[in-house]
Amino acid sequence: MARRGDTPSMPPMNPVRAAVADATKGFLPAGEGAALHDAALSAPAGTWLEVGTYCGKSTVHLGAAAATVGAQVVTLDHHRGSEENQPGWEWHDPSLVDPHTGRLETLPSLRRTLWDAQLDDVVSVVVGSTQQVARWWTTPLTLLFLDGNHTEEVAQHDFAAFAGHLVPGGLLLIHDVFEHPEDGGRPPWNVFRRALYVGDYDEVGVTGSLRVLRRR
Ligand code: MG
Repeated sequence: MARRGDTPSMPPMNPVRAAVADATKGFLPAGEGAALHDAALSAPAGTWLEVGTYCGKSTVHLGAAAATVGAQVVTLDHHRGSEENQPGWEWHDPSLVDPHTGRLETLPSLRRTLWDAQLDDVVSVVVGSTQQVARWWTTPLTLLFLDGNHTEEVAQHDFAAFAGHLVPGGLLLIHDVFEHPEDGGRPPWNVFRRALYVGDYDEVGVTGSLRVLRRR
């Protein structure tokens, strides 16, 4: 792992929480989960926002770090799955379909994940689209993790809507950032480039497709 600014004294993740994260469905490789946890340990206490929850795998990594530094995590998702999670798409999991709606439904899985990880008192769950929540969100953030809908329109919206709430010294983490198109979709890369272009951020770490930036 090539992590700039890393320190050798990061406390390891609580083993119960690490096991829950491992067992939770999601799209976060183990090395990137560990990097997410370690990076979050260097964020200020305060309010952290995760955009894109799914079943809570990354939420456990963030929540474990938040418990250590005394932060609160808000995790935001409409819980009905992104395009690539719908029937007929590559990342569809039929066991997550709610027969009542016929749509994906990941909220019950998230609730079990947080229960198992003993993070109910650290993580607040917000159910809604990012467009809905952006209309009323006013709380300053000390960490923002962008891992929501990966269409260009929504990825750019989520950055524009929430990064402005990051305080100086706050961390911006972006998942699924692939420099080369053959490795993955463009929108997270474009958001990452936009963040560097606007000049408010320094890149402080990269592990796989996880980029870590700090607001100046
Ligand atoms: Mg992701």
